[in-house]
Amino acid sequence: MAGLAATLPVLSEGHLAWAAQQAASSQSPTSFFPHPANAVLINANENPLGPCDAALAAITSIARTGGRYDATGCEDELTAQLAAQFALPTDHLAIYAGSSEPLQFTTLAFTSPTRPFVTADPSYEAGMVAATANGARIIKVPLTTTYAHDLKAMVAADPNAGVLYICSPNNPTGTLTPKDDILWALEHKPAGSILLVDEAYIHISNSPSVIDQVALGKDLIVLRTFSKIYGMAGIRCGVAFGRPDLLEKLNVYGRNPLPVTALAAACASLKQPDLVPTRRKIMADTRTSTFAWLDRKGYKYIPSLSNCFMLDTGRPGRQVIAAMQQHDVYIGRTWPIWPTYVRITVGTPHEMELFQTAFEKVMSSPVSA
Ligand code: PLP
Repeated sequence: MAGLAATLPVLSEGHLAWAAQQAASSQSPTSFFPHPANAVLINANENPLGPCDAALAAITSIARTGGRYDATGCEDELTAQLAAQFALPTDHLAIYAGSSEPLQFTTLAFTSPTRPFVTADPSYEAGMVAATANGARIIKVPLTTTYAHDLKAMVAADPNAGVLYICSPNNPTGTLTPKDDILWALEHKPAGSILLVDEAYIHISNSPSVIDQVALGKDLIVLRTFSKIYGMAGIRCGVAFGRPDLLEKLNVYGRNPLPVTALAAACASLKQPDLVPTRRKIMADTRTSTFAWLDRKGYKYIPSLSNCFMLDTGRPGRQVIAAMQQHDVYIGRTWPIWPTYVRITVGTPHEMELFQTAFEKVMSSPVSA
């Protein structure tokens, strides 16, 4: 375990986004974040709105107590708040510095060389990286024609599966998998496996959650993060919901004391009743106007209900990523199953205008050799 921990960093969207950016770039990177100050960053599904005002105030205020680990009991407070929100006992959730850690730890705990990791394709890659490091086989099941997870095929993929990873809304497509399909998978999955349901983007789409299944004692772990609608990717707070015996299995990989700034910001964010619907509308409006522009220009994309979408460039996507970078617009990566598609994060209206200008220029230039 010590050897594995030494070789497997906790991968976040930030790492994956920048690794792809550097791979597409012709320049040799001089640092982990080699972008100019004016760059349009629509490559890592971040939220340009950042933490809300109440979260910022909470961070400022709690920072004064930062000489101590958790002088005011912030972790207990956030745990109690979340437990009340989802009508769960407090031992049915665990708070982490983002959801990347519990995503990785769940994968490590429930896969092995004899227990494969089953995922949709394309989908978020962090679990696959952890499963590969664990010696587990990866089984990729293409999305359906409606871009949902093909849960019948995922359930049937291997009778010894360890983890079925379900990301809804999916990263990178921003498409949903119906809750009924997830409930069906929960009942029909291979014995001994768990469902790992990643709800990182659920607030943006306002789709139904499966956290209610946790109270019913089912074999699933559900992940949430404050990195998306709450705009706290750099502040770091996430949650794993699950039966205590399942969550216990993650503890072997370590629990670091949490930054009080993240805990206080999360508590404050949850207390803002209008925050989620207001931000959801802002994101939906920008997404809708971006799609309207793409339609007018005749570009092909997959309609999304999230803060990212897949755009078909009709040419090697990596070339487009590199060419956009020349215009200081940093777009998201490609997935091997769809090499001509690039993922675009929905930024601010101004960022999307800059994206449109650059994209049109790039697409009107010839495909490079
Ligand atoms: N899950 C999905 C689907 C994501 O897209 C991300 C980040 O983009 C994460 C988990 C992890 O995010 P974080 O560690 O910032 O909570």
